[in-house]
Amino acid sequence: MTKTADAIRYSIVVPVLDEQENIPPLYVKLTEVMDALGEPYEIVFVDDGSRDQSFRVLSDIFESDRRVNVIRFRRNFGQTPALKAGFDFARGEIIITLDADLQNDPEDIPLLLAKLAEGYDIVSGWRKDRKEPWLTRRIPSIIANGIMARLSGVPLHDFGCTLRVYRREIVQDLPLYGDLHRFIPALASWSGARMTELVVRHHPRHRGSSKYGLGRISRVVLDFFSVKFLLDYSTKPLQFFGLFGLLGTVIGGALGFYLLYLKVILGESVFIKHGPMLLLSMALIVSGIQFISIGLLGEMLARTYFESQGKSVYTVREVKSRRQEALSRDPHDTGPHRS
Ligand code: UDP
Ligand code: MG
Repeated sequence: MTKTADAIRYSIVVPVLDEQENIPPLYVKLTEVMDALGEPYEIVFVDDGSRDQSFRVLSDIFESDRRVNVIRFRRNFGQTPALKAGFDFARGEIIITLDADLQNDPEDIPLLLAKLAEGYDIVSGWRKDRKEPWLTRRIPSIIANGIMARLSGVPLHDFGCTLRVYRREIVQDLPLYGDLHRFIPALASWSGARMTELVVRHHPRHRGSSKYGLGRISRVVLDFFSVKFLLDYSTKPLQFFGLFGLLGTVIGGALGFYLLYLKVILGESVFIKHGPMLLLSMALIVSGIQFISIGLLGEMLARTYFESQGKSVYTVREVKSRRQEALSRDPHDTGPHRS
């Protein structure tokens, strides 16, 4: 990292897929808002394999503005990889993300930043008055958000809003793949991030078209299960699977002993008189053993996962020590913590 790069305060990361008409007005509005803040910033546009003229439009902007960076993917990888690439590239102390389609309003950025300065690591936008159809967008979203907030224990109303501000060290270490950008707050809370939300404006899409259809709902729900599992049990999968396993084997075993008693002591013909119960007992025992085995396999996978990638099972907010080396634990840290 060079000295000049370190001086950047804000990095704005914008994922772009086929937004040629939206980029110029977004750029104008975004720079107006950011210039008014009066601190050095950079914009990182990530062209996620656009097939329209988006890359040309971005290249023109790049030619005329030194603060603009453009990362172009070889093909469409999705919004999560686009954001991840932006995070990896970003050098600002604070990262700001927003959609390229002008549905998020850059004028909300200063409000989010003010909230962040109150001592949070993430401030997430809440599109309270969402300008989208009720049936296909708003109702599914309200239900999904309610479930996610309850199960994840992260009290957010809107997991799907890209307009957010974060401290860089929080997001740069997050393992983001698939469609997990919606779960950045949940994943970050896993690392102990302090987070809050703020009501932001939302506009209907005037140009271009949405990149998602109804199929998103089932994908979000399935992703949720994996995130929830990762949040709670990735370091102790046996506690999750083992519970079902123990229940199965214990109940199945008890039934089995009861049947054994009927057979051996009372001399009943168990197979003919209690066939279903015998089957149930066997099924419970077999599936119980399988659950326990899956849990043990999970334990092995978890160890491989954490150890092979040098992933830590905890994250440190701050270290107070008189030992100098203890303070240089975080490669992303470029200066004293502001919090
Ligand atoms: N986007 C992207 N890659 C994709 C899909 C979307 O970079 O595969 C971008 C898109 O250009 C926009 C943002 O992600 O800037 C949100 O997409 P969209 O507006 O289609 O989502 P919606 O607002 O309909 O939920
Ligand atoms: Mg949109």
